[in-house]
Amino acid sequence: MKHCHFCGGELHEQLTTFVHEENGQVWVVRNVPAFVCSQCGEKEYTQETTHSLLNFLKQPPQPAEILHVPAYDMAS
Ligand SMILES: [Zn+2]
Repeated sequence: MKHCHFCGGELHEQLTTFVHEENGQVWVVRNVPAFVCSQCGEKEYTQETTHSLLNFLKQPPQPAEILHVPAYDMAS
């Protein structure tokens, strides 16, 4: 069993949604395998998964769908 290096909680492998914002553009990648901490929710990705995610951002494939999501502003 892997442990979270922030809080020492147990990490469980599950499929997650990766969200990344760069230059005002938001990227959503679904079904990304990650080890998720059962205590603090911290996500850890394997080196292979991190590599795939970086490739996605560098050379995005055709998106599976275009999302229209509400966005909120805490400052307003
Ligand atoms: Zn943790």
